[in-house]
Amino acid sequence: MARGQPIVTRFAPSPNGRLHLGHAYSALFAARFAARRGGRFLLRIEDIDHTRAREQFVRAIHDDLRWLGVRWEEPVWRQRERMAHYHAALTRLKEMGLLYPCFCTRRRMRAVIAGRPDWPRDPAGAPLYPGTCRHLPAAEREERLAAGDEHAWRLDMSEALRTAARLLHGKPVSWREEGVGPQGETGLVVADPAAFGDVVLGRKDIGVSYHVAVVIDDAAQGVSHVTRGHDLFAASAVHRLLQVLLGLPEPAYAHHRLITDAAGRKLAKRRASTALAELRAQGVTPEDVRRALALENAMPDDPQAQGP
Ligand code: GLU
Repeated sequence: MARGQPIVTRFAPSPNGRLHLGHAYSALFAARFAARRGGRFLLRIEDIDHTRAREQFVRAIHDDLRWLGVRWEEPVWRQRERMAHYHAALTRLKEMGLLYPCFCTRRRMRAVIAGRPDWPRDPAGAPLYPGTCRHLPAAEREERLAAGDEHAWRLDMSEALRTAARLLHGKPVSWREEGVGPQGETGLVVADPAAFGDVVLGRKDIGVSYHVAVVIDDAAQGVSHVTRGHDLFAASAVHRLLQVLLGLPEPAYAHHRLITDAAGRKLAKRRASTALAELRAQGVTPEDVRRALALENAMPDDPQAQGP
């Protein structure tokens, strides 16, 4: 984030389920982070995955957040209206020689790693891509593309890291994380995008991936601080790499704690028990929710958080 740049945060839910307490925490965190610094807060609907996104959930996001007392700036961006921008970014990466088409089916990949329990996995737990299509002869690649064979577009991670090193004059890809020091100071995190291997940036089913859409929109909306749950901490490495490759501005990051259920599990949209709508129906008030989330004790740079 450049000095003097206005503070802008966002809450960017995917409308494929009802919001639960974890989302409430995330939305309040982002809104409050901006408010305390005199900044702006945006809501963005991340609906590129038309196989899962539903209009009823878009409406519910608005209702639940309003009930919670969160206020955002209009207009609310819908990612499905911005596909052309994401495709332009993919084209640029292709022109830089950093993407290759991958024709592998899930079944084929499963077959490659079958019986190999020690096969490396990415931080989200998915098996790393074995690299099969990275080595396809150019002629075969062209032929299969021309024939319309279904394919995803993968980042050639080694090549991307070499390009990034050149662009950064040998410095590692890194980001500034808010609130990591003992007094809540900003710390530098060295990114490890290689942990994701040749990550998919152009999905076979919907054309683009979350990683591309999120960095394009954070840049286009002038987001200065990306605040979100700790479950996306590792993915920020991929996002920082893409920002470097695409020449996008560098935001700061604040990954907050995750709200867990009584058994210590991360909350999921499919478990209804903590859905805001459900709580509201039971007579829980927005104040109860805020109190239960103990947000006051968790803000970086928050003077109240530094007490004994
Ligand atoms: N749309 C993502 C989700 O609902 C969050 C994106 C982000 O905060 O970067 O998990």
